[in-house]
Amino acid sequence: MEMTGTEDLLSKIAEHVRAIMRLLGIDLTNPDIAETPQRVAQMLLELTSGLREKPPEVKFFKIPENALNNLIIVRNIEIDSLCEHHLLPIIGKATIVYKPRTNSVPGLSKVIRLVQWFARRPILQERFTQELAELLLDKINAKFVYCHVKAIHLCSFMRGVKSRLTVLETEAVAGEIDVELNMLREVARDYDRVRQPLY
Ligand SMILES: [Zn+2]
Repeated sequence: MEMTGTEDLLSKIAEHVRAIMRLLGIDLTNPDIAETPQRVAQMLLELTSGLREKPPEVKFFKIPENALNNLIIVRNIEIDSLCEHHLLPIIGKATIVYKPRTNSVPGLSKVIRLVQWFARRPILQERFTQELAELLLDKINAKFVYCHVKAIHLCSFMRGVKSRLTVLETEAVAGEIDVELNMLREVARDYDRVRQPLY
């Protein structure tokens, strides 16, 4: 059943992509690009999958009671998204700092999957960061969550202002923080000196 729905969506989107290509003056009789509308449709579905898929279930594990005051840092979660104004890629990474609310903490891979699921839709990075902090607060059983997102936006990278060195950094807090905000900023800072390609 699910398959039919997706296939239907795929062919509908491909039809529109074909129409756009035609309007752009792309020669659709070229056999080498015959499959391009389907590929573009598939890509759009993949990059917006978070709109249609359920959030991943989070598994929890026990930590000792005396570890409750420790900060947990998940650094450099790679995210791929789309800007909601141009539907062009946003490529970046998120760092999450949180304090558990009870002695149950989420598995690392589930935190990563949750962040990546939430990014798979058109976003405005500033709003995304705040909503991500609130989503995580709710889903990972945290006392508070601090999120830092650092990304390049291809819409300002290769069109419009064409500023290729600009990186957008956003931060957000959810829950009751019981430490200094500047301390969280410092903890979240990426000291990795190895230059990543692009960002
Ligand atoms: Zn944009």
